[in-house]
Amino acid sequence: MREHTPIVRQAELQPLLELTERVGCDPLLTQASTGNSSAKLDGVLWIKASGRLMANAKCDDILIPLDLKVVTKCLRQGVDPAQRYPSASLETAMHAALPHRVVLHVHCVNTIAWAVRSDAPVQLQTRLEGLRWQWIPYVASGLPLSRAIERALSSRPDTNLFVLGNHGLVIAGEDAGKVEDLLAEVRTRVAIPPREAHPADYAALMDISMSSPWDLPDDDGVHALGTDVISQAILAGGLLYPCQAIFFDSPASELFRPIPYPDPGDDWQNRHRNRPFLIIEGRGVLVNRSIASAELAILSGLTQVVQRLRESAPVRYLTAAEVAGISGQVAYRYRKIANASRAGVGR
Ligand SMILES: [Zn+2]
Repeated sequence: MREHTPIVRQAELQPLLELTERVGCDPLLTQASTGNSSAKLDGVLWIKASGRLMANAKCDDILIPLDLKVVTKCLRQGVDPAQRYPSASLETAMHAALPHRVVLHVHCVNTIAWAVRSDAPVQLQTRLEGLRWQWIPYVASGLPLSRAIERALSSRPDTNLFVLGNHGLVIAGEDAGKVEDLLAEVRTRVAIPPREAHPADYAALMDISMSSPWDLPDDDGVHALGTDVISQAILAGGLLYPCQAIFFDSPASELFRPIPYPDPGDDWQNRHRNRPFLIIEGRGVLVNRSIASAELAILSGLTQVVQRLRESAPVRYLTAAEVAGISGQVAYRYRKIANASRAGVGR
């Protein structure tokens, strides 16, 4: 592996770092530390470190150098490179499986609003017509996803755009500029205006937040989970994508079910005190004062996704086996991120 001086590295990686920062600052593209980017330069895979924020790409050392030969050898031997290099992104295998110099993976809410539908391949066919894209049905992150990408590439090697079922978007290209151009094109084509939700009942929410561990969220958008019955019905059906695993410490099935507006004297505060947030029927959402910033970002992104799903959309939820699969390594990592953001920057 060639030694990279900080100056050489900085100059070569600068366009990717700038793109990464722009993407990371857009909550409709990435939430908390989700999403990742990489560049292959002179046998080195520069990949986002696990748990780092894309938004900090220019002020923080978020890319770590891995020997590309070692990483591809891992793939051949069936070893997940993220296990060999625990500080590397969980998606390192997928980045390595793509031959392109620059790879970007985002949790674009507009794309996800299509990617959680059982008719996604048909719906996207017309919207992405003319682009070199492929649909990858849901598969767990890490080696399974990298293998699915390898198979897709072997059938159509010119593919540079992948829509990942119940997950997000992957764009690959020769340089950061081409990747960003394609991202802009895809965003325009898959854009869905979000449904307008009934406004929150701020007076009622303030009332119950007084002298309690509950507070109003900074993002007014999340109140839609309490006031929009279509979103409530969609969330009641199951998990849409793995990021929701960040809430696995809480009783997940109960968490997204709205609670009635509490009666005075009701012991609701004790009953729900371990929840990161409360969806209050018809009124809006309250967040626990100890909620992690990562949890808030995931909650905001989730609201953006469900507000883009029509009532009639055929939603394809994660199966019990898929949920069990993410409750291991991925959920562990998400919890680590939540804990780090709780201990660090806070809300
Ligand atoms: Zn992802």
